[in-house]
Parts: sequence; structure tokens; C-alpha cells
Amino acid sequence: MATEGSIEFRRFRPLRSSEATRQQNAETRLLGTEFVYPMFVINGKNRRDAVPSMPGIYRMSVDEAMREAEKAISVGIDRFLFFGIPDEKDDVGKRAWSPDEAVQRSVAELGTRFPDAQSITDVCMCEYTSHGHCGQLTGRIVDNDATLSLLAKTALSHAEAGADVVAPSAMMDGQVAAIRAALDDAGHSGVNILGYSAKYASAFYGPFRDAAGSTPSFGDRRSYQMAPSQRGEAMEEIEADVREGADYIMVKPALSYLDVIASARAKFPANQLYAYNVSGEYSMIHAAAANGWINLKDAALELLLSIKRAGAQKIITYFAIDAARWIKEKA
Ligand SMILES: [Zn+2]
Repeated sequence: MATEGSIEFRRFRPLRSSEATRQQNAETRLLGTEFVYPMFVINGKNRRDAVPSMPGIYRMSVDEAMREAEKAISVGIDRFLFFGIPDEKDDVGKRAWSPDEAVQRSVAELGTRFPDAQSITDVCMCEYTSHGHCGQLTGRIVDNDATLSLLAKTALSHAEAGADVVAPSAMMDGQVAAIRAALDDAGHSGVNILGYSAKYASAFYGPFRDAAGSTPSFGDRRSYQMAPSQRGEAMEEIEADVREGADYIMVKPALSYLDVIASARAKFPANQLYAYNVSGEYSMIHAAAANGWINLKDAALELLLSIKRAGAQKIITYFAIDAARWIKEKA
């Protein structure tokens, strides 16, 4: 304690006096190894199509995706989340469980070329259905129970290709249980499940839908994704996933849901907590930086740090490669 006249006060500034002191006293530190890099994979060869609303992000054929993975691995990232975009779509999304689609081939190729890397696959129907909804329709409603077997089939095809982790994102009730049972029945009890446990119907997914071509042709996803007003319900969704056999849990999006991340971390300490720094969060920082309104690197690192400080143990982010490089430069 210091004193000024009769007033006692504490000096905080000594611990902020230099970069070295600040670094040494940091309560939270970002590590590139905690990032998961999401990739959009397509069929064909030598294809690298830019996603206009997401600077630096591409839809890549499998060969290009492996080049990208190599780049990520060289800066310490070893987890990849694959989203597939098929050439043909239909009303139930049959291509989702085809062994020769881009996701299945990416997983197999990653396993052969980079055996220490982990492949995580997005399990959903929306990239594969002609109507862009996350499951099979009955009339204009997504049929929960009819969709479960489609998700299970898709997850199983990913496991058969060699996926380490399957990540159901459709927000159908019972999806984790259906997938766990299908995996176990087929002898894939070692494959982990990452539940998109608390996935909100968010305005921040816009650029992703551009990238994945998964905008619903009618309506929206509010009848299956969570309303942004819900925190208690998020805890119940997570608890249900854990009971159904999810090894890891997720809160998506991250930035507007830091309180949900903090609650989830406190309530479910035994399950690794992932947070998804979604496309809209990525693109708005890029857009502001391109206008000279904020500094790209500083804003991105601050955002990622806040997600970790809130309690996330793994961060799925399109900034992964850049951020891992920036952290290395700083160290
Ligand atoms: Zn979906």
C-alpha cells in the first residue's frame, strides 16, 4: 500500500511498466496450439476459390487443402475442422455420406500425410441438401427424428475415412446419442464426438453461408438453433450432449456469447470446451481493418484472447494461421 496524505492506495502500474513485465504477469496467454483451423473442401483438383466475404479464406480441393494444412502445421496448428461442399445436392443430402466426397477424402489424406494432426468433421446436412436446411423435411418443417439416421450415417462415413472427431452441428435433439450408437455398433468406439452443444441462431453466420452455399431456400434455422436470449437453456443443451456421450462441448458463436462460454466452463469442467469464432466475427474485423478503422492483428488477437479468458480451451477460428504467426512473432 502507498499513501498520499491520509489516503491509502494500491499501485497497479508497476506491473504494467514494460512489455516484458506485462508478458510475465499475463493471467491469460494465447497459444497457437489451441486453435482449430476450419477448412471448406470441394471436389476436383488444384482448385482454390476465394470466398469474397471472407478475406484469405478459400474453398479448396483436397490437394490444395493439404497444402494449406501443411502451412498451418508449420506454425503449430494440428487440428482441422472440415466442411464439405458437394457438386450435387438433393432433398435429403445423400452426398453427405458418400465415401468419395471431399470431406471423407480430406480426412483420409490428412491421416496419411500428417498422422499427428487431428481431423474433426462437421456433421450436418445443410451443405448437401438442395433446400439448405440441416435435415430432412416433412412439408416445410425439418423432421428431427428422420434426420437422426442421416446424421448417424454421415458421421459413420467420416469415421470410416479415419476422422478422429465427428462434430454434429444440426441441432437436432438426440443427435449425439444417435451418432454414438452408430459409431459403437460399427466398431468405432474410439472416435470422439464434439457436440455443437450450444449453437445459436445467429446473424454472424452470414459469410459462412456464402462459403458453404448453405443459405436456406426458405425460412430460417430458428426452429432448431437456440435463441440468443438463452443462457440457462444452453447449460441444459450441453448437459444433454454430455449425457448422450459427447466427449467435447462447444459454444457457437463466441464473441456475443462469452458469458455462455464462462458458464459452460464452470459447469462442465470435465469436458474440453470449444468456442467457434465464427465467420461474421472474422469478416467484420477484416472489413473494419480494410477501411483503416482498426488494426487487424491487434483486434484479432484481442478477440481471441477474450474467448480464451472467458474459458474456452480450444478456439475454432479462421484467423488460426495468421494468429499463430503473430503470436510467434511476439514471443
Ligand atoms: Zn447445418
